[in-house]
Amino acid sequence: MTHLQAGFIYTDTFQNYNFGEQHPFNQKRVELTYELLKDMKAVSDEQIITPRIATDSEIALVHDPKYIDAVKRASRNELKEEETIEFGIGTEDTPAFQDMHLAASQLVGGTLSAVDHVLNGSYNTVVNLGGGLHHGFRRKASGFCIYNDAAIAIQYIRKHYDYKVLYVDTDAHHGDGVQWIFYDDPNVCTLSIHETGRYLFPGTGNINERGHNDGYGTSFNVPIDAFTEDESFLDTYQKTLFNVAEHFIPDIIVTQNGADAHVLDPLSHLACTMKIYEEIPKLAQSVADTYCQGKWVALGGGGYDIWRVVPRAWSQLWAVANHGEPFKGNIPTSWIERFQQESPVTLPATWHDQENLYKPIPRKEEITEKNSILVQKLLQPILNDRNYMM
Ligand SMILES: [Zn+2]
Repeated sequence: MTHLQAGFIYTDTFQNYNFGEQHPFNQKRVELTYELLKDMKAVSDEQIITPRIATDSEIALVHDPKYIDAVKRASRNELKEEETIEFGIGTEDTPAFQDMHLAASQLVGGTLSAVDHVLNGSYNTVVNLGGGLHHGFRRKASGFCIYNDAAIAIQYIRKHYDYKVLYVDTDAHHGDGVQWIFYDDPNVCTLSIHETGRYLFPGTGNINERGHNDGYGTSFNVPIDAFTEDESFLDTYQKTLFNVAEHFIPDIIVTQNGADAHVLDPLSHLACTMKIYEEIPKLAQSVADTYCQGKWVALGGGGYDIWRVVPRAWSQLWAVANHGEPFKGNIPTSWIERFQQESPVTLPATWHDQENLYKPIPRKEEITEKNSILVQKLLQPILNDRNYMM
């Protein structure tokens, strides 16, 4: 299949989603990625789509109006102290800030703009790196996420088209918000591969979380071991993704592309390198091509090494979406020269990581074995009828 060019959602005002200088969630990474792609001459002005602002009724496709009202009041510093716990706003993870409702509505609007452009056929794939806020709950902010743009977009697709949606989440953290929102919906299948919740936020994402009522069998979780490396991550991801897709037969896929499974990421304990960020989008694209006539909405997500990891990882997502192949070789020196002064760490010179990026993991074999048993257990129910791809 020939790949059409992709669309890229971008605006400087994504930077307004800002919890403050000391907070790990930093939208500077979207700007760094955009600038890197510009220097690669990999995105043209015609491909840039300015995001719209989501309306209150669109946000209410998923969120409780009382919660939306609380976010608006927090935007004006009018949220009462005792509401902090109820709505999850004003916490250490998700502090309140001026105009947070508007900033969060624009991230949602970006994802809805992406959906619109895919569904009206302008592009097979549209990428919104400002989105992917998978932890947001119906009436509670969580894990840096105010509004759950991914869930809103899926509900929007369900409302306007009778499409079956496969949501694939490769962030290092469990995609809990999206999972619980569609837990009993048989037309939305969620697949999350993440570091086990034993030591990591949000603690959920167990293999036995398989859905509820009519939605039973459309929720899949792969809680891989801490210190999992590239080969085991990719083996696990590929087997699960292909089998789940073949089982569910989606009409469109929505991917959350958090870039925090990298060994340099400060908030997780996985040991992956740029290798996975070259392969993850290729596998997603092959599923979109096989089942969805290419229809693929790709979102950002976590990612806390904003200098060395995220710009490269997200550029590779774009490279695959836009022309089917990841970048190779050197990072443009223009980009390094422009941003090195601002960066507290040495910026990478190449697209791939160096071989000796981290010390060998002593439990490698054991981890690989555990992950592979996990996949077998997870897929057992859908493989009972069919011996497929294992
Ligand atoms: Zn994450």
